[in-house]
Amino acid sequence: MLGPGGVVIVGAGQAAAELAVSLRQQGYREPITLIGDEPSLPYQRPPLSKGLLTGALDAEALLIRGQAAYDKAAIMLRLGTRVHAIDAQQRSLLLDGGERLAYDALVLATGGRARRLTLPGAEHPRVLTLRNLADVQRLREHFVPGRRLLIIGAGYVGLEVAAVAAQAGLQVQVLESAERVLARVVSAQLSAYYQQVHRRAGVVISTGVTLHAIDEQPDGSLGVSAAGGATWTADVILTGIGLIPNVELAEAAGIAVDNGILIDEFGRTSAPAIFAIGDCANHFNVFAGRRLRLESVQNATEQARAVAAWLCGKRLPHRIVPWFWSDQYHLKLQMAGLSEGFDDVVLRGTLAGDSFLMFYRRDGRVIAVDAVNRPAQFMQVKRLIASGGEGFSAQQLADDEVSLKVAPAIVS
Ligand code: FAD
Repeated sequence: MLGPGGVVIVGAGQAAAELAVSLRQQGYREPITLIGDEPSLPYQRPPLSKGLLTGALDAEALLIRGQAAYDKAAIMLRLGTRVHAIDAQQRSLLLDGGERLAYDALVLATGGRARRLTLPGAEHPRVLTLRNLADVQRLREHFVPGRRLLIIGAGYVGLEVAAVAAQAGLQVQVLESAERVLARVVSAQLSAYYQQVHRRAGVVISTGVTLHAIDEQPDGSLGVSAAGGATWTADVILTGIGLIPNVELAEAAGIAVDNGILIDEFGRTSAPAIFAIGDCANHFNVFAGRRLRLESVQNATEQARAVAAWLCGKRLPHRIVPWFWSDQYHLKLQMAGLSEGFDDVVLRGTLAGDSFLMFYRRDGRVIAVDAVNRPAQFMQVKRLIASGGEGFSAQQLADDEVSLKVAPAIVS
């Protein structure tokens, strides 16, 4: 069995890079090894559906750190390498080519993979997904003005790509099975607002669509058919229908899994010396009052810090107010909290002016907010939610003259 021991991190994405650096910053002195199956240094994924597609950024700009920073911190990178199995008894991993590697502590930061459609024809090579740099390269080949792009799924990824593609002169059609866009994450009012913004930009959106099949037409285009006989044709299809957490390694090692690898507030799994962080991990969220698996940069970062602290002998439980952002056209949308179970919505600002806050309340408390083009006030409301969401009447929330500042709270 070969070294190196110390902390071994499986996955070399956002959470892994944060953890490795955070470990060194907090004084960890043993070996740190990152093993990732992608060929690239760890990079940020949010620009994949934004600046990288437009060409405003190149892949180099996405790197979380350059090679020199890992060298300087003595962080060993094993890129293009897949971990196949964990032997939790022996505290070792099985890598490509049968190599075995020992660990003292193991951190699973394996992220997730794009969910694929299960329709007939969905395996066609021009039915694409978007999760990594290789996916962007495939999609960009089709970013030619006039091309017909059909997007299946009106979640964040689908709508961000729709915005970028429409601006690049493609003909964009979005198909969504729910009755409105972003149905899982925002109110009906905000869905209607986004739907309108996209329609103004020339994106055609169809909701309530139950797909049947995809097939290649004699002229080479892709035909899509749905219940009720509706059909569409496109040159390329992108599916944005969610993420499947990469939990198979953990599951095979007997670690508890339920919509993600189950962790506590320090990132510990059910197995000794094995931790999990980021998109693959499922934690009990104190603000939501239930277990959650979050897919966001902030969540990856916070959980990485909690595990780094634990491995350095400190206790820093993660307490994450779920938050996220999405850039579409000139709109910066930021969301914090979870709006499920809200009993009223209060608006500050105007939708027509593309600058507003939408507060979701339950029993008079602010439990979530959607902010469009209001980054400073968003930060204030995020703190308000973290501190319990109390202290503002509906009238005060709606009044732009009333400051939303609260005392600094437990949120980062
Ligand atoms: P990842 O970054 O996915 O890294 C996991 C890595 O582990 C991958 O490279 C994977 O290939 C590798 N791996 C898996 N299994 C193995 C194995 N067995 N052996 C070796 N390597 C393995 N978040 C936001 O907060 N705001 C946004 O606007 C936003 N936009 C996004 C847009 C897109 C298109 C995408 C895809 C994501 C976006 N996200 C956004 C989500 C955010 O990028 C993720 O939450 C974040 O990347 C999670 O980090 P992670 O380290 O958990 O997983």
